[in-house]
Amino acid sequence: MTSDQFRQLWMCFADQVSAYTDTLNDLDRAIGDGDHGTNLVRGLNKVRTLWPSGELSVPHLQEMSKQVGMTLLSTVGGASGALWGSGLLKAAGELPSQEDVIDDDGVISWIEALVSNIETRGKAQIGDKTMVDVMRPAVNWLKDAPGPFRERLEALPRLTTQWMESTKDLQAKRGRAAYLGARSIGHIDPGSFSAALWWQCLSKVVA
Ligand code: ADP
Ligand code: MG
Ligand code: MG
Repeated sequence: MTSDQFRQLWMCFADQVSAYTDTLNDLDRAIGDGDHGTNLVRGLNKVRTLWPSGELSVPHLQEMSKQVGMTLLSTVGGASGALWGSGLLKAAGELPSQEDVIDDDGVISWIEALVSNIETRGKAQIGDKTMVDVMRPAVNWLKDAPGPFRERLEALPRLTTQWMESTKDLQAKRGRAAYLGARSIGHIDPGSFSAALWWQCLSKVVA
C-alpha cells in the first residue's frame, strides 16, 4: 500500500459513509441514539481536508494514520470516534515514518494493531454485536486464509457483508445497544455496517 492508496482509502470511506449516512443513522436509531452516520460523516469530511488533492505530496504513512486518528478522535464524538481514533493513533506505530509504501505484511500489521486496540479499548469481542464482529474476522481472514493476498482482499466485500448481517441475530453486550438487552436482537449493528464499508474500500483501493 502506498501513501496515495492510503489517502484513497479514506476518501472512499468518506464517500461511502456519506452515501449511507441515513442508513447508518436509521440502524443506530433502532438500537442506539441515531447519530452513527452523522458522527462518522462529520469526522470523515474533516479527514477529506487533510491532504488537498492539488498538493504535490502527502506525509509519510505513519503521520497519515496519526492525522486520521486525531481528526476522528476530535470530531466524530461518540463511541465509534473514540475507538477508530485511538486505534489509528496507536496503529500508526506500525507504519514507517520515512517511507511512502508498505508491503502486504505491513498492511496486515497496521490493521491488526488497529483492531487489537479497538478490542482493548472497547472491551468487546466477537459476538458482542459491535464493529468488532466485522473487524476481527476480517483481519483474521487477511492473515490466515489460504491463497494470495490479493485474492484474500477480493473476498472481503462479500465476507464482511455476511459478518455485518449476522450481527442482526445477536444480543448487544457492549455500547449503547447493550442497555436494550434482548430488545437489541433483530437489528444490524450500525458500527458493523460502517466497518464493512471500510473493508470494501480497502479491498477496492489495495486489491
Ligand atoms: P454512540 O453510541 O456513542 O452514539 P456511535 O453511534 O457513533 O456512538 O457508534 C456506535 C457503534 O460503536 C456501535 O454500533 C458499535 O458498533 C460501536 N461500539 C460501541 N461501543 C463499543 C465497544 N465497547 N466496543 C466496540 N465497538 C463499540
Ligand atoms: Mg450513536
Ligand atoms: Mg451518540
